[in-house]
Amino acid sequence: MCPKSEPLFPLLRIARLRMEIDGEGVTSLVAGTGCPLSCKWCLNAAVLRQPPTPVTARELYDRVKIDDLYFRATGGGITFGGGEALLHAAFFRAFREVCGDNWHICAETSLHVPRGLVETAAETVDGFVIDIKDMNSEIYRRYTGGDAGLVQENLAYLLGKVGPERLLVRVPLIPDFNTPADCDTSEQKLRAMGVTRIDRFSYIRREV
Ligand code: SF4
Repeated sequence: MCPKSEPLFPLLRIARLRMEIDGEGVTSLVAGTGCPLSCKWCLNAAVLRQPPTPVTARELYDRVKIDDLYFRATGGGITFGGGEALLHAAFFRAFREVCGDNWHICAETSLHVPRGLVETAAETVDGFVIDIKDMNSEIYRRYTGGDAGLVQENLAYLLGKVGPERLLVRVPLIPDFNTPADCDTSEQKLRAMGVTRIDRFSYIRREV
């Protein structure tokens, strides 16, 4: 029986043996529930509606430790995703205490979360994969229903706190919502902020 205060992670699925998708090495994607945004072409919407299994840090460790040798040999580890991984920032700290310092911990995020969660995550997470959507506030609002200002303030905070090397910022071309020229503008704004690692790609449109 674990103490009531122990953070739980709402586990949806684990995808093992991913190669150099979110950084170096072999990683396991650990996906959880919850997201504050409502993106039109969300690829995860169906998965996010599935019931999760709440797990403690030790229980999750026991499920993923089978790949310990791969993680250590390649500099890989665990990537928390979702949904919005930073909703579970307190869990990252508990998980780090169990897994030790040899595993790389990465988080996939929109940064559309309260600052306190970003601060907590920054204490533990080695690498952030940030889906910035678009730097234009109106495009962002139309596509996600959210506030680009919150995202950009959190990004500025993270840049100052952990530095650009630990951030990979993804700039998607979003069908019906932005254009290659919009993506160029987003990239220029990001580089002006100090972002150095930028991944340009296109969303796959899927009706949900
Ligand atoms: S941030 Fe990601 S998980 Fe959340 S609604 Fe958008 S695409 Fe879906």
